[in-house]
Amino acid sequence: MNQSSFSRRPHIGEKVRVSFEFFPPKTDEMEARLWETVRRLDQLRPEFVSVTYGAGGSTRERTARTVRRILTDSRLTPAAHLTCVDAVRGEIDEVIAEFARMGVRRFVALRGDPAEGVGVRYRPPEGGYANAAELVAALGRAGTFDISVAAYPEKHPESPDFATDIDMLKRKVDGGATRAITQFFFDNDLFERYVERVRRAGIYVPIVPGILPVHNFWQVAGFSARCGTHIPAWLAERFAGLQADPQTHALVAAAVAAEQVLDLVERGVSDFHFYTMNRADLAFAICHMIGIRAPVPAASESASAAAA
Ligand code: FAD
Repeated sequence: MNQSSFSRRPHIGEKVRVSFEFFPPKTDEMEARLWETVRRLDQLRPEFVSVTYGAGGSTRERTARTVRRILTDSRLTPAAHLTCVDAVRGEIDEVIAEFARMGVRRFVALRGDPAEGVGVRYRPPEGGYANAAELVAALGRAGTFDISVAAYPEKHPESPDFATDIDMLKRKVDGGATRAITQFFFDNDLFERYVERVRRAGIYVPIVPGILPVHNFWQVAGFSARCGTHIPAWLAERFAGLQADPQTHALVAAAVAAEQVLDLVERGVSDFHFYTMNRADLAFAICHMIGIRAPVPAASESASAAAA
């Protein structure tokens, strides 16, 4: 496909909406960096921000802590991710109730991956929810929530074919999910074809592209191989030789992500979910390019900031 959309005029407008994804920090240093990121991205007034959820009690507690702090220390609306991994139904229902008591009204409902990691076949725990569709149903029984689920433009690695994959998406939407956020991808043609397939299957909720700004191409390439995302040759070529040149890598990453998002805007996409990796810069710059901007400080404020 032709990704060079800079020569075309993107329909940049106010109707573009964004959400940002964070992961719960493990150390004080990571926590400080996350909060710098949250404060910066807060200025862009995203529709919501989401916090990922991992296996194991301590990771889950970190998710809850991060969501609670977003509720108390920012203007942002948090969405808590939830997975079915390694917990019986009653435990998950209690986690949902706890989030609801905290004031959480949005969830991203996921099955999760086995403890051994992405790519290993998932076996549901005995007495647990078997898949994300069952988790969506549990959320529906627990209250009235805005529920997002995952979607896979290149199909989930465990799905034998697109029909099986989209059938699972349909079960999640029929159960009450109101939005699907995609796995990251780099080929917009694949995304467009996927959305067409989804619509043909009678699924009409927004399919929001998950955009991964490439902070480290080689890490992303390794992860892509495990989660079934195709790395186009042109993308590998752009980062080739930049292992020891982080500055140029960052500039190329910004250009690649901006190009992808502008092309999607051109194709009519109006909602974007950014996998921020808890870093603000690339997401902030791309949002600027699609017209989502921080308020410009009044002239007197900017003059005193410059003088300080
Ligand atoms: P499901 O919708 O239940 O299933 C996914 C696909 O697997 C289906 O399309 C289905 O066709 C196929 N499948 C499932 N079971 C079978 C089977 N028995 N036979 C054949 N096919 C089968 N992971 C985390 O741990 N924490 C997170 O916070 C997190 N956040 C995410 C956010 C987004 C936006 C996305 C896209 C992914 C996220 N993930 C997260 C990763 C996710 O947990 C994995 O991709 C997981 O492998 C599948 O989860 P799911 O909710 O899509 O599962």
